[in-house]
Amino acid sequence: MKGVVPAAAVAAAGLVAAGLVARKVAGFRPLPASAREPDLDGVDGEAAAHRLAELLRIPTVSSRNPAEVDPAAFAAFRQRLADLYPETHRALDREVLGDGALLYRWRSGADRPPMVLMAHYDVVPVAGQEWSRDPFSGAVEDGAVHGRGAIDDKGTLVAILEAVESLVATGFVPARDVYLSFGNDEEIAGVGAQLAVEALRSRGVRPWAVLDEGGAVVSGVFPGVPGRAAVVGLAEKGLLDVELTATDPGGHASAPVRGGAPARLARAILRIEDDPFPARVHDVVLGMIDALGRYAPPGYRAVFAHARFLRPALALLLSRASREANALVRTTVAITQLEGSRAPNVLATRARAHANIRIALGETVASTMDRLRRVIDDPSIELRVVDGTDPSPVSRADNEAFGLVGAAVRSVYPDAAVAPYVMVQASDARHFSQICDSVYRFMPFDLSRAQLASLHAADEHLSIAALHRGAGFFRSLLRGL
Ligand SMILES: [Zn+2]
Repeated sequence: MKGVVPAAAVAAAGLVAAGLVARKVAGFRPLPASAREPDLDGVDGEAAAHRLAELLRIPTVSSRNPAEVDPAAFAAFRQRLADLYPETHRALDREVLGDGALLYRWRSGADRPPMVLMAHYDVVPVAGQEWSRDPFSGAVEDGAVHGRGAIDDKGTLVAILEAVESLVATGFVPARDVYLSFGNDEEIAGVGAQLAVEALRSRGVRPWAVLDEGGAVVSGVFPGVPGRAAVVGLAEKGLLDVELTATDPGGHASAPVRGGAPARLARAILRIEDDPFPARVHDVVLGMIDALGRYAPPGYRAVFAHARFLRPALALLLSRASREANALVRTTVAITQLEGSRAPNVLATRARAHANIRIALGETVASTMDRLRRVIDDPSIELRVVDGTDPSPVSRADNEAFGLVGAAVRSVYPDAAVAPYVMVQASDARHFSQICDSVYRFMPFDLSRAQLASLHAADEHLSIAALHRGAGFFRSLLRGL
């Protein structure tokens, strides 16, 4: 009987396949947990908290409007760093680049490519936010340090300096040079970090690895995975700002025409909304699923164990799991500003919308613009690129540098699973991709949902325990170089 496979053969093939699947799922298990206690030797959480609090009291607020920036605050901050960390300032070379970017060099005497640790000391404004404490009082209360910049990113800066100061004090010399690059204008996508890159490049320095803010130690963000996960960014999405404009002759609002500028603009926005960019599981996300999926309950685990073959289904699953997971698998478009006529009884001569777009890995500014035009399908809508950056290159997760970051994480968070991920925000780290292939984005803090929600918002705070472990992380990292 041509074309019909004997039932026995089908059954046998089925059994073999089922056996293979079962074996794969059985091997896809959590890595053995370390029984160790966090290694916080040599770092003092309480003292670190009070030094962070002092630095939070200096309002180094960034603004694109130079009249709103207080250069004296930035100068005071740099001076305070020297007072709070005297050993570091004695042992390391320090340069001030441009308007206040700091670049320190800790010499090792060894001729190996250096490590770069990054942070930034400017903060976003607090205007229009309801804080329950003064955002610049630097209160240390309820086991936490409160204030603008506690997490983003003075917390990281302090954690780095606590580690360096404690090591310098004991006479420790790193096994390779260490640069500290502290930006002064990250929040306005300024030039500070770029100046540091140019300084290093002009001296022929190619870093071994770079670590900047990005992922953190989080719980409950990956579907079905209950425990703590330390997510380390290997790349960041691209950033694209687009202005959409529709124009009309205008006139009195008592005699409108059908299909006026606001209506066409609204239709364009709805078309973008109704036809989202495709969801795809990039290799980096696959790596994240591989690292975290093994901690999921059995049902999920069977799916995650075969992630490589289930990309379309996983893309769908993640895109529906949460806003955050959705942002990991596709280019997202947020319409952030809308503008029409300036008077209530005058037809708009111009309707304008601003789209803030985060470009998924594998796509570009050009491919994103092409697709937007296709989806809007209306030549009367003018699209203008205000600013655009392609996604960053992807750093490796199978090398010594990533291994060292993972080991430093486990030294202070023994129970955390370490996973690669894609950062959905832009950071200063992207500049370093020009001179380094191993650029990682991670802040070594265990952040609760409330703490994550306080980023760039009211009541930003960082627990003393997290700051303490963060300092321990950098200490372990530096000793492991
Ligand atoms: Zn930041």
